[in-house]
Amino acid sequence: MIFDYSYPQLEELLATVGEKPYRARQIYEWLYQHKVTHYDQMTNLPQSLRDQLSEVAPLTQLELATKQVSADGTQKYLFRLHDGHLIESVLMDFDYGQSICITTQVGCNIGCSFCASGLLGKKRDLTSGEIVAQVLEVERLAEVRVGNIVVMGIGEPFDNFTHLMNALYTINHPWGLNIGARHVTVSTSGIVPMIYQFADLKTQFNLALIFIPNDELRSRLMKINKAYPLQEVMDAVRYYVETTNRLLPLNTSC
Ligand code: SF4
Repeated sequence: MIFDYSYPQLEELLATVGEKPYRARQIYEWLYQHKVTHYDQMTNLPQSLRDQLSEVAPLTQLELATKQVSADGTQKYLFRLHDGHLIESVLMDFDYGQSICITTQVGCNIGCSFCASGLLGKKRDLTSGEIVAQVLEVERLAEVRVGNIVVMGIGEPFDNFTHLMNALYTINHPWGLNIGARHVTVSTSGIVPMIYQFADLKTQFNLALIFIPNDELRSRLMKINKAYPLQEVMDAVRYYVETTNRLLPLNTSC
């Protein structure tokens, strides 16, 4: 799907069909600002290019399966993917604006005992496009402009690192969804090598940690404590804070 392409990747794709880089900006604006649902609506692109793009990068949307609205106004969207899997995105209306919680995997392999997402294990990673499309689709369906993103839905984001980062770059890109990096928070259960990798990217995206304060309790609630004990996680967190000069919220739940 077209939403899988980060801006540089789209420029590369366009180069392979002999198009100039400026077409990438036109396409991004149609997708993320005008939120069109068909290539034929991209009226400043030649018909031949629209046809080629439909073939190699279809403009497919997430299919809404159900929507629930709770008493406090929180909206839960269940989307059906092309292979039938279901994923959830949650829109919350706070004093400081609309915030969306998005999903990065179908299921989860981490298996924290307090979380239903890990019960059946991971079925597959979401593509970058499937991650980005949740924000786009909820903005379209709810007719809101999302100001904050928390990557805390189903799945461990750092277990799908490449697709996650590609999606975040599109979410943050000025011609993409244009949501400031400081308004995007990625929550991890504590995959130590990926915390170092995330820190080394030196982006302005926020990191949050599902925090259990001692090894004994953490081992009981989170299997991941065996591979990455609390001390190693906190060393990685310290490295993240020192490398990025950013503070790190510690969550006590997902
Ligand atoms: S809390 Fe997060 S990491 Fe743990 S099982 Fe649930 S989705 Fe996976």
